Amino acid sequence: MSSETDHHHQVDPRSPEVRTEALEDLLVEKGLVDRSRVDALIDRFENDLGPMIGARLVAKAWTNPDFRERLLADADAVLISEGVQGAEIEHIEVKANERGVHNVVVCTLCSCYPWALLGLPPNWYKSPEYRARIVREPRKVLEEMGLTLETETELRVWDSSSETRFLVLPEQPEGTDDLDLEDLARLVTRDSMIGVAKAITP
Ligand code: FE
Repeated sequence: MSSETDHHHQVDPRSPEVRTEALEDLLVEKGLVDRSRVDALIDRFENDLGPMIGARLVAKAWTNPDFRERLLADADAVLISEGVQGAEIEHIEVKANERGVHNVVVCTLCSCYPWALLGLPPNWYKSPEYRARIVREPRKVLEEMGLTLETETELRVWDSSSETRFLVLPEQPEGTDDLDLEDLARLVTRDSMIGVAKAITP
């Protein structure tokens, strides 16, 4: 277990996050940038571009049992062989949902997140409320987020750190065996890879 000082993102005025926010405020104030366009851009990174890297891996794991096995056993090696950039800077573990087991990811200390696979973390992921409650009452929090699990399903909550980050491998929706990789990847949402939703049933 790392000490708290090891754990990144203490609020530091020199940090890129703080500087970027200050820059955005200044640009908006000067009328150079429209904040809604910045929001649209961030939304695109949050929901489309970033998560597609993870989604392709999930789709490939659904269609290729050997790839799935390797991904679950040693995700870092798979990411390197797949040419996923940034994978070398963090250790990633993939946790598979299956009948009777559901995985969900949090960072209780701050907001560690598999950036290389999912892009930017959503705001709720960084909220103190999610970070505290998903550990104490995961079933209830998931239900509030629209995911109701069977009572006999075991819930596993994975606490990320700057050393280890997690990706959930959601279950493949039934009746999708005929879809190609690209169509399958579209069913894999960011939220399903955090574990707060299931993959989309077409
Ligand atoms: Fe963190």
